[in-house]
Amino acid sequence: MNKELSSLTTKFRQNILKATKESAVVVDDEHELTGLSKQQIGAAAEAAKTRGLTGKWIVTLQNTTIQPPLEQMKNRSLRERVFKASVARGQGGDADNTAVAVRMATVRAQKAALFGAPNWAAYTLVEETAGTPAAVNDMLGKLAPAALKKAKKDAADLQKLIDAEAKKKHTASFKLAAWDWAFYEQQLRKQRFHFDDADVKPYFELNRVLQDGVFYAAGQLYGISFKERKDLPVYQEDVRVFDVIDADGSNLGIFMADYYKRDNKNGGAWMNTYVSQSDLLNHKPVAANHLNINKPAPGEPTLLTFEEVTTMFHEFGHALHGLFSKVKYPQLSMSVPRDFVEYPSQFNEMWARDPKVLANFAKHHVTGVAMPKALFDNVIAAQNFNSGYATTEYLSAAMLDQSWHQLALSDIPQAAQVAGFDDAALEKAGIFYPPIPPRYHSTYFSHIFAGGYSAAYYAYIWSEVLARDTGQWFTRHGGLTRENGDKFRSEVLSRGRTREPRVLFEEFYGGPPTIEPLLEYKGLSTPAAKHGGGGRTSTK
Ligand SMILES: [Zn+2]
Repeated sequence: MNKELSSLTTKFRQNILKATKESAVVVDDEHELTGLSKQQIGAAAEAAKTRGLTGKWIVTLQNTTIQPPLEQMKNRSLRERVFKASVARGQGGDADNTAVAVRMATVRAQKAALFGAPNWAAYTLVEETAGTPAAVNDMLGKLAPAALKKAKKDAADLQKLIDAEAKKKHTASFKLAAWDWAFYEQQLRKQRFHFDDADVKPYFELNRVLQDGVFYAAGQLYGISFKERKDLPVYQEDVRVFDVIDADGSNLGIFMADYYKRDNKNGGAWMNTYVSQSDLLNHKPVAANHLNINKPAPGEPTLLTFEEVTTMFHEFGHALHGLFSKVKYPQLSMSVPRDFVEYPSQFNEMWARDPKVLANFAKHHVTGVAMPKALFDNVIAAQNFNSGYATTEYLSAAMLDQSWHQLALSDIPQAAQVAGFDDAALEKAGIFYPPIPPRYHSTYFSHIFAGGYSAAYYAYIWSEVLARDTGQWFTRHGGLTRENGDKFRSEVLSRGRTREPRVLFEEFYGGPPTIEPLLEYKGLSTPAAKHGGGGRTSTK
């Protein structure tokens, strides 16, 4: 079974690559591309040329349902073509994934049955914080109505914009469709928020964010301090190394900061523990953060977007989880489940927007003047602007994943039924809403059929629920204090997987997870009191 699953995984991935390449949209008339930049149009012409279509243009696709150029394309029928090409990937043709998905679901259900589990989700969730399909369904089922409510309110605003535009142009209006959302969302965003990166970045200089933001918050919370080491060899000259000193003066471990983009570096941002903490082996941890920030010209400061600032805090939250580990066996140091691993990191993001921490690091890199509050409030509001959409598209995909993997062997559909499976599953889960399709449809959902996330795509938001609950607990108990930090460190961050993650959280928090703090953080609910802040929209 494992052997068959392994080759099916490869087949699924190969089919996606092939289908994505073959589904690229050919454009005959340059005018159809209005809205795209000169460079994008040039790249589209170049892509056509390499495929032997000189004189035409090709819009290439990426793995998600919604394609990035949709937010720029003014031509509605081209938007529709691109969208439809995207969602049809892997259905029929010579890169058909319907039979592959069905076979994988079947073998997984058979494998689960060998262990006495009713389905694949029940079999795999035993290892996760959530524990059971019922717990996952309950959490997703509670989040979906709130996300949909905000999304439908936003949809009404977008529809008004469409109607007004039609009236102005004396053309017939139309009903907002999935291929229109990103385009009109961008228009509305420009109307509502009058700032861009150039206004924000001067307040976020890399070294100040690190020392006076990331390190400062950790010092206030946990009493730790950082001493840069220039004597240790590094693998690349930009990498910085710090001794992490505990409150009692003892050495806790080493933190490495590798923030700049390089040609031969993986994309994205991540944390790595090069040495895991272990009392048995007397190993102190070495934790590193790797980001991909553009390196400025020599002598120029490195100025960050708020997204990048948030990423620095996020990755440092992972690093603290590794550095504070206090366990005997190295295996138990960092091996927490997928729906727990993003908990300390997403929790640590909150300090990037904490008023006290922000006041300490968000200063103009030339004048030293503090960032105006109105500007920062706008940054947060702009992040939350599309949170209804982002949360709904993510939850839809998470529910689709559960729908496949909670099927009993006898209920698995035939390949020919896969085309209708997604809509029916979303309808049943109460999240079917055509203007917001799932982030991935089944036939190109590589996380669950070609990656390690089968029955686990929900894990991102589960971790975030724990993170926001914890954030609210801190706020209720006075925020940035040693007392709060020490409690979190001793009861959660230092424990690795020496206890059930669910128990670690519940004993710290004083009960099971609740969704309200996350809804508030993401701007999906309107608290009775003055609005306390927002959240970043999902980027999964
Ligand atoms: Zn992370």
